[in-house]
Amino acid sequence: MDNLWKNWDLVLRNLKDRIRNDRAFETWIKPIKPVKIENNYIYLEIPNPLFYKGISGFINDLRESLSNITGYNMEIKWSYPESKKNPPSLYFGEKLNPANSFDNFVRGQCNQLAHAAGIAIAQSPGIAYNPFFIYGGVGLGKTHLIQAIGSMAIKTNNCKTAYLPCENFVNLFIQSIQTKTMNTFRNNFRSLDILLIDDIHFIAGKEGTQEEFFNTFNSLYDQKKQIILTSDRPPKELFSLEKRLVSRFEWGLVTDLKPPEFETRVAILRKKCELKKIFLDDDVVFYIAENIHDNVRLLEGALNRLIAISSLLNKTLDINITKEYLRDLISSQKKIITIEKIQEKVAFYFNISVHDLKSSRRLKTLVVPRQIAMYIAREKTDMSLTAIAEEFGGKDHTTILYACKKLKTQLETDSYLKMSIEKIINSLHE
Ligand code: ADP
Ligand code: MG
Repeated sequence: MDNLWKNWDLVLRNLKDRIRNDRAFETWIKPIKPVKIENNYIYLEIPNPLFYKGISGFINDLRESLSNITGYNMEIKWSYPESKKNPPSLYFGEKLNPANSFDNFVRGQCNQLAHAAGIAIAQSPGIAYNPFFIYGGVGLGKTHLIQAIGSMAIKTNNCKTAYLPCENFVNLFIQSIQTKTMNTFRNNFRSLDILLIDDIHFIAGKEGTQEEFFNTFNSLYDQKKQIILTSDRPPKELFSLEKRLVSRFEWGLVTDLKPPEFETRVAILRKKCELKKIFLDDDVVFYIAENIHDNVRLLEGALNRLIAISSLLNKTLDINITKEYLRDLISSQKKIITIEKIQEKVAFYFNISVHDLKSSRRLKTLVVPRQIAMYIAREKTDMSLTAIAEEFGGKDHTTILYACKKLKTQLETDSYLKMSIEKIINSLHE
């Protein structure tokens, strides 16, 4: 090795004289490190792959210098240190947004478990919780979290990872049928270490894609490869999904993202300010956090609006400006809830038609949603029992009374029912 280094020094001097371009020499040649000589090959290391290009004009000179100094005609083998290779990127799929990282994800009671499990999975994919199923309402951080897990897994384990909004999975699948490239489609998906599908509920009603996803899922699962899914609702409530898929979704860990509590909303706002490099007074931050509750995206929207206003109008962001310019956002949080809206949301939630919901059919799959709709109408509107009854096909007002009483009792013990109702109520504000 000593000898190699000594000779390399001589080679460099020879080469420097030969190329007579000090800058090029300092930039491209000097950083080259000799590693070893073996069987007429000299192994040289460059700092990163970009150097190939820079060096390419000097390769012949380098060969000649080598042969001058050592007396051999040697071939060169290039390498560069592992850690300095290009940052590992996605195998295929949509790009991950670097802002959706764990560093930028604020932890709170609302997302504690999902956050902790996400980190554990990124560190040892395929082992701890498989599949990992994250659900939660709009704008609660599902996409942020699933992408953070993907980025971290790529960085720490160099995993072959694909991230796709479910819609893209469906489209790719359809394309592969049209272009008769099913095999490539399958091989691509089945050779992954981690498959991330965002908004899996989108697959509802698409039987062909469900079948294919089922097979992909099984293949990855059998190979102990990690599958992570997000959805707007828990597996149990993916009513129009095949049962066998739903049950697989429950094999691993199912966890939810809840609307953030006040302290977390404040922390998220502060984090976003830090990222956007702006400063907001505490009273402004508290005001936003107090008035915008159930959706982080709205919280961020409010902040962006304030930033735009302060720069466009060149105004200092104080509490008065904040109140003035967020008025409509805040009042929309207190939107008027109508019975039509309730019926629509309940029907959507249970995947039934509004028509069936309002009908008198006694199927259990209709009776429960119907009673829930009656209960929410009673709680969230000022309508009388009779008026509500009229909106359900002219039933007797005692039917409404009965439904409300029954649900109230049930709610005391049934936390699952409680959660469903909370979710429907939340969706009324969207
Ligand atoms: P979803 O996919 O559930 O609809 P997103 O992941 O798109 O929601 O989140 C909406 C916005 O809120 C994004 O800008 C995201 O960065 C932000 N966000 C959500 N939760 C958090 C959190 N815990 N910490 C920081 N930002 C968050
Ligand atoms: Mg999303």
